[in-house]
Amino acid sequence: ALTIGIVGLPNVGKSTLFNALTRNQVLAANYPFATIEPNIGVVSLPDERLDRLAELFHSARTLPASVSFVDIAGIVRGASEGEGLGNQFLANIREADAIAQVVRGFADPDVVHVDGDVNPQGDLETINAELMLADLQTLEKALPRYEKEVKGRRLDAAVLEAATAAKDSLERGVLLSAAGLDLQPIRELGLLTAKPFIFVFNVDEAVLTDAAREAELQALVAPAHAVFLDAKIESELIDLDPADAAELLASTGQEESGLAQLARIGFDTLGLQTYLTAGPKEARAWTIGKGWKAPQAAGVIHTDFEKGFIKAEVISFDDLMELGSIVEARAHGKARLEGKDYVMHDGDVVEFRFNV
Ligand code: GDP
Repeated sequence: ALTIGIVGLPNVGKSTLFNALTRNQVLAANYPFATIEPNIGVVSLPDERLDRLAELFHSARTLPASVSFVDIAGIVRGASEGEGLGNQFLANIREADAIAQVVRGFADPDVVHVDGDVNPQGDLETINAELMLADLQTLEKALPRYEKEVKGRRLDAAVLEAATAAKDSLERGVLLSAAGLDLQPIRELGLLTAKPFIFVFNVDEAVLTDAAREAELQALVAPAHAVFLDAKIESELIDLDPADAAELLASTGQEESGLAQLARIGFDTLGLQTYLTAGPKEARAWTIGKGWKAPQAAGVIHTDFEKGFIKAEVISFDDLMELGSIVEARAHGKARLEGKDYVMHDGDVVEFRFNV
């Protein structure tokens, strides 16, 4: 499964946030056979469509899609030089598919800031610099090998070109994600600044209720997405029943928990979407990549569905709700039989036909 690694300076609230993520046990309960590792936090993707499908099909339960987060040790100045946890830390984030960077925006004289002052912009610069230095080191190590292999015609020249262009860009202080380069040939390097980033500003109520301040912080990381949350409140929300949780959220000017926002943005950043199935047993969202075709999507349910794929009966969620039943949708020609080249859309309600 795709995962998002959580990084940030020490004392910015990573553990507090991660704790909230791991105690969010909805999914652990839904997947009794899944082994959830201690450093993985799973958050379900809020999806009201599932409740409406469950109503229509009298489903016994709903199963939302989920996003996995990995807790990664804090980054410190000098991490790229292998200080302290540095090397292990970098090895771990290399494996993440996207990175959520936690930035401290809360003021609290009792919580020391590593660099003395609460300074979101400075913190972002420190972390970016460490990540860029780490990527430079990776490239400097790989380049001599690439040069030799390209000379010996054992490697495509595109690899060397991509690595050289990446190095130039980093030396000019440009993050790889913003460099507009084709990095596909050097994917194996797991370059950190080439990964998609999400920024999590861990703030207090004063910021959560201050749209202008949020806009300022968002501008620091644009065009990347930012989530604003109070990690302490998130960890309290988990223990509340839904009505009390909604009240607490409303008191901080929010409609949705920070974890839910993080799940939604994380899902999108990873390039994922869902299709839906429904029956008496469950109404369920299945995770697929954007642009996937029907057989590949069927394979997420079972490999046999992909191998023996015949057709998919597809109804858009909106059509189904408007017409009220599959029978009605068929009668109105809104239930389409799609073949193996059909490109899935988010919110397709699907039943697969397959050979066993
Ligand atoms: P980490 O080093 O990034 O993992 O940071 P921690 O999660 O351990 O948090 C460091 C300290 O900041 C702890 O004492 C937390 O209780 C506190 N803290 C975390 N988030 C918040 C927050 O949103 N507001 C306030 N006031 N304190 C927080």
